[in-house]
Amino acid sequence: MTALPFEIESRDGQARRGRLRTAHGEVQTPTFMPVGTLGAVKGLTPGQLEEAGARVMLANLYHLSLRPGIETVARMGGIHRFTGWNGAILTDSGGFQVFSLSGLRKVEERGVTFRNHLDGGLLELTPESVVAAQESIGVDIAMVLDECPPWPVSEAAAEAALERTLRWAERSAEARRSPSTALFGIAQGSHFRPLRERAVAALSGLPFDGYAIGGVSVGEPMAERRAVIEWTAPLLPPDRPRYLMGVGTIEDILHAVSNGVDLFDCVLPARNGRHGGLLHRGGLLRIRNARYREDPGPIDPECSCPVCRTQSRAFLHHLFRSGEITAAVYGTLHNLRVYLDFMGEVREAIAAFRLADLAPKWVGRSADELRTELPHAADF
Ligand SMILES: [Zn+2]
Repeated sequence: MTALPFEIESRDGQARRGRLRTAHGEVQTPTFMPVGTLGAVKGLTPGQLEEAGARVMLANLYHLSLRPGIETVARMGGIHRFTGWNGAILTDSGGFQVFSLSGLRKVEERGVTFRNHLDGGLLELTPESVVAAQESIGVDIAMVLDECPPWPVSEAAAEAALERTLRWAERSAEARRSPSTALFGIAQGSHFRPLRERAVAALSGLPFDGYAIGGVSVGEPMAERRAVIEWTAPLLPPDRPRYLMGVGTIEDILHAVSNGVDLFDCVLPARNGRHGGLLHRGGLLRIRNARYREDPGPIDPECSCPVCRTQSRAFLHHLFRSGEITAAVYGTLHNLRVYLDFMGEVREAIAAFRLADLAPKWVGRSADELRTELPHAADF
């Protein structure tokens, strides 16, 4: 019995269109999960996130553990009541912070100890504590604690990290107590094919509700990332959802969907949106550019979002140039809607056996622009 019933309705090649049933609503897959690290997607209310088309929000256990503290979230009635988001919630475990905060943590067999980046105190995460914490705040999908190695990494170091991650996965599976929180295992192994195969073989034998591909989007070239996805995704248990962590661009998502991946998250669309990099079907529109100063058109005439229905490029240009908070809200709302509409087209294309037709429309000549991440020194 799984905490996350999953049905595959149709296939186009290896791509799957399906349906996840979470305690907080049904989710059609493939889907994109906007990132709300601290419990909110930056700049958006839960109502706006829902209006953008999101059904799953991603939050981060490491960050919530530091502030406001897991006990506080639990005492406030759990993560849904605390944040006001009634859709599904997936929390990442802190494994990515093993990579991103590499100067501030110590990895041992027992778990990871972080030097708190806020006040210098210590935070220990173990496979068991991570499962218990995610269950205690009532997330729909919990992730196991893993060790995400940097890129590049030697095969010996990647193997050591993988073996520890697999021992942690066993401990995580044994630590489960709640029948209503789904738990996903995470396949690591960097860009070494034998290690990826070893990861999938070991994890497939454990009773997880879904399986993630981790250790990508850590600075590797696109060809390496694609190879890892092509080796790993098709080997994962076919009847369970597959989640590619931290990826990515429209182009990367299309590639992964066609290799059988169902779930995605990435900070890219929201971060670009906050900084004036607005997506449209022809590429990335840098709204601060002087050419939009008196442009009366919408960001993207094909977009159905509330921003494109009501606001001109000229007004958005003015708001972004003025540093107005509303600019970031509009940019985020529009970009997330583009991603979520894109995922809707992906699902329709799979059902119609026409997935291959999407690439020319969404990637085509604008691939370089869609890959671009704008500078974001002044994030908020
Ligand atoms: Zn729009």
